[in-house]
Amino acid sequence: MTSILVATNIIREHGEGAGRVKALKGVSLSLEPGELTLLMGPSGSGKTTLLSILGCILSPTSGKLVVNGIDTEGLTPEQLADIRRKNIGYAFQSYNLFPTLTAIENVLLALDVRGFASSAATDMATAALKAVGLSHRLKAYPRTMSGGEQQRVAIARALAGSPGLILADEPTAALDAENGLAVMALIQQLARDKSRAVLAVTHDHRTLPYADRIVTIEDGLIVGDRRQQSTNEPQKKQPAPGQH
Ligand code: ADP
Ligand code: MG
Repeated sequence: MTSILVATNIIREHGEGAGRVKALKGVSLSLEPGELTLLMGPSGSGKTTLLSILGCILSPTSGKLVVNGIDTEGLTPEQLADIRRKNIGYAFQSYNLFPTLTAIENVLLALDVRGFASSAATDMATAALKAVGLSHRLKAYPRTMSGGEQQRVAIARALAGSPGLILADEPTAALDAENGLAVMALIQQLARDKSRAVLAVTHDHRTLPYADRIVTIEDGLIVGDRRQQSTNEPQKKQPAPGQH
């Protein structure tokens, strides 16, 4: 099995002088296709910093990162952005949707950035929003959508164009229990694709049963890494995404 991503001994410091913080103290992690990995850890432990580095949004202070076989060391910001566009879908904790764009326009913008021709992009954006149960909300503006719906648009944007790596930062944090578990079921489904790895940051223990693998981070170091049989039960009590 070829890893989608290999990070080796990643160190990252934030800030300057006396305020300098070592957010990551030497993290090594590989992500495998077909797996949903959850990254757990307390607030301030380095989860967002690690996800940003794996997503080529932030550079490590030192360490090695290989994405889809490409060594990112010494690449320019433009080259890193290119790797990100071609390989990585990133769902931000705060959604980062454009308020003046509809759901489908938000997804289309991401596809445009990824270089898809507009003729194909409309079908792809529609398919991505359908996959997250939002076929009926294509033309809705973010302000008219619930938190769960906005989170699902953010996930649709991350999965549109089918990148090999999907990274999601606390995708259930702003959601109530029902919406949170519906979003987890969706993320689990994305990871069933044998050519794709999915890593989601969470500190919500209700999400753990969905994981194939659980990595624990504390104070900038990985302190746990285990695989488990994920539950694959139909979520009986939950309406299908999109029915509320
Ligand atoms: P988590 O996502 O697990 O809550 P973060 O990765 O956001 O943790 O933060 C890890 C540590 O780095 C924390 O101590 C945080 O205060 C610090 N940190 C994060 N981002 C910055 C930044 N831009 N400047 C300075 N310190 C930062
Ligand atoms: Mg965070």
